[in-house]
Amino acid sequence: MPGLRKEVRVLSADAFRALDVSDEVLKALDGMGIENPTDIQKETIPVMMAGRDIIGIAPTGTGKTVAFGIPMLEYISLKETRVQELVLAPTRELAQQIVQELTDLARFIPQVKIAALYGGQPMSRQINQLKHKPQIVVATPGRTLDMVNRGHVSLAHVHTLVIDEADEMLKMGFVKDVTRIIEMAPVDRQLVMFSATTNRDVMTISWRYQREPVEIVVEATKENRPQIAQHTLLIPRDKKMEALQYLLDSDEFDRVMVFVNTKFMAQRLSDKLVKEGYSARALHGDIRQSQRTQVMNDFKRGKFPILVATDVAARGIDVDDVEAVINYDLPNENEYYLHRIGRTGRARKHGVSFTMMTFQESVRMDEILRYIQSKPTPLHFDAQGILRREDEEAFFENI
Ligand code: ADP
Ligand code: MG
Repeated sequence: MPGLRKEVRVLSADAFRALDVSDEVLKALDGMGIENPTDIQKETIPVMMAGRDIIGIAPTGTGKTVAFGIPMLEYISLKETRVQELVLAPTRELAQQIVQELTDLARFIPQVKIAALYGGQPMSRQINQLKHKPQIVVATPGRTLDMVNRGHVSLAHVHTLVIDEADEMLKMGFVKDVTRIIEMAPVDRQLVMFSATTNRDVMTISWRYQREPVEIVVEATKENRPQIAQHTLLIPRDKKMEALQYLLDSDEFDRVMVFVNTKFMAQRLSDKLVKEGYSARALHGDIRQSQRTQVMNDFKRGKFPILVATDVAARGIDVDDVEAVINYDLPNENEYYLHRIGRTGRARKHGVSFTMMTFQESVRMDEILRYIQSKPTPLHFDAQGILRREDEEAFFENI
């Protein structure tokens, strides 16, 4: 019934309109296929538009970028030629992704200019972007300081500073850089921090630099928690490759991310897969930045189906329609498990994950599962790396 449909559409646009989102941004959201605000968006948008400091804790995949992106755009002064808004992100990939999302949101506000600053790319190109007088800068901490110290950009007129993935950023050793950047901005700036978890460093920064912050906590509930069917595979180390091929050969997945723990392993596994005739690429810190961007974009566009990645390289990356995540190595940190499987089931879609573990590693896996409080379905593979008959149902039913 077309009439009914139309009404539903108007209603959902109203949910964002009720949050005082401008027509331009509403139009952009429509183009992005975003209809209803997520919990973190409903709570963050009004508070951030009111100029308050925020510490937002929400699971991955709940739409934090749009949550801070909308107030940033609503709050921008288009005539101001100095940098007004700064987003700090822990990795270049994440910075690029935020730029993309902000650019999409700003599609109908053509005067908005965004510069992206991160390492691994010649400074000259980024300096050029800065010459165009962007109102928004999205950057990694190291490159930001570099640019400031060389006099290419000033943070003296920043009124909104967003720190995305604060937990990860501070864990990566950026505490000093981040505090220096915060101190370069005016004292009355708005400081908004987003994090998947809280840790001591996040709380310290909040305590030192935020004024009466509004704490917005979105629990991982059934609804906002991505729908991910998790599996564990108890398997001898030397059969992991066979099991991986079994999963890939199931032909159930068009886009798969395989996680390993080291750059070396990422490259080796990806090479091995290519040798076996699969279309796979590796993403890790030893690959040149320009090439990493290319690999990410090609994966997003579906030019190849299998991405073998390390945790840092894949951090925060949002690719729609990753259908399966395979943990070839057990993650070293409990939280990494969540971040990894969070690459699938994004934006309320259904996803599936497989975690390979040797008998020795199963102790570590138990610890991870206690931490995230979930119970995956165990799958058993035989000595040839083939799924046992009795588990086939559990496997195919869930995917
Ligand atoms: P987070 O930072 O919380 O991990 P992202 O900001 O990367 O999540 O968003 C995850 C995905 O969800 C993105 O593809 C984004 O475009 C999409 N998204 C954001 N908000 C909504 C919404 N209200 N409805 C549907 N999809 C959304
Ligand atoms: Mg994010």
